[in-house]
Amino acid sequence: MARPGNKIIQAKLVVLGDMGTGKTSLVLRFVKGQFVDHQEPTIGAAFFTQILSLAEATVKFDIWDTAGQERYHSLAPMYYRGAAAALVVYDISSMDTFTRAKQWVQELHRQGNKNMVMALVANKSDLDAKREVKTEEGEKFSQENGMFFIETSAKTAHNTGELFHEIGKRLARAA
Ligand code: GDP
Ligand code: MG
Repeated sequence: MARPGNKIIQAKLVVLGDMGTGKTSLVLRFVKGQFVDHQEPTIGAAFFTQILSLAEATVKFDIWDTAGQERYHSLAPMYYRGAAAALVVYDISSMDTFTRAKQWVQELHRQGNKNMVMALVANKSDLDAKREVKTEEGEKFSQENGMFFIETSAKTAHNTGELFHEIGKRLARAA
């Protein structure tokens, strides 16, 4: 619910990253508060909305999840058009997905808005025993690219609330 006198922000959020990194799972955590094991890969359009009430503002998210198009190297310009925020997701147990995440960040620099709020999301933090990507590597890359960095687990809900909160706060600050 919007608080009286509170600013309302409508924000398009795009979600990028390799297939299988947990993009859809993170979005479902946020919009439904649940985790589905053996999630069917998304087919077709995947559009979600969620409202987040913060002290600073009420943020209405329009979330564009990639629906299998992430297997191509770039997405259609309409995907990025007007996006205020982006999540670039990788899986800490796969170095390949981190390499791909770096490519998605370059793609964002080319296609996205200049003052987009960007988060580098190191997902599957519950798989620490199989970790291939060190926390510091993600941190370093995010700092070099003006992003904020967070490790999450869509499975255990570790930091998933914090992720969307931080995006919301940064959007409110920029609005
Ligand atoms: P997407 O292709 O990037 O949308 O990835 P999905 O959300 O479909 O997730 C791919 C697979 O990884 C599914 O089997 C999920 O259940 C699983 N998964 C997603 N997030 C996590 C996580 O944080 N930890 C673990 N262990 N598995 C996850
Ligand atoms: Mg998906």
